[in-house]
Amino acid sequence: MTPDFLRALLAAERHGIKVAPCMDCGEHCLDRLDPLVLVEGSSPPRCLYHVELAEGRPGTQGHHVGGRPSPLVLPVNVNSHKRLTTIQELAWRLGVEPGTPAAVLVDVLAMNAVLALGTEVEQ
Ligand SMILES: [Zn+2]
Repeated sequence: MTPDFLRALLAAERHGIKVAPCMDCGEHCLDRLDPLVLVEGSSPPRCLYHVELAEGRPGTQGHHVGGRPSPLVLPVNVNSHKRLTTIQELAWRLGVEPGTPAAVLVDVLAMNAVLALGTEVEQ
């Protein structure tokens, strides 16, 4: 997702314009459309997970807990992986070094929150 696409989605939402959710699952986040997981240019609109499935991929990716070079890699669906890596990138920008105990702690807390949203798609 490009920053321009994300800005356009957020601006549309601020102005009360409905943005179409994923046609397969209506992917959303706490009653709000989650633009992080919508695939720019997909027609009909689809989330990362359903684009992966439509293209014959499994829809899961290995998530490095705490970031690379963490040896702990857990399979998560690609929508959750996008959310988790975005949170990792924010933490790193704030000075949390990837692969450190602090990064693992931030990631475990993020995983708890992201997975508690209940948006994991059943496979
Ligand atoms: Zn979907």
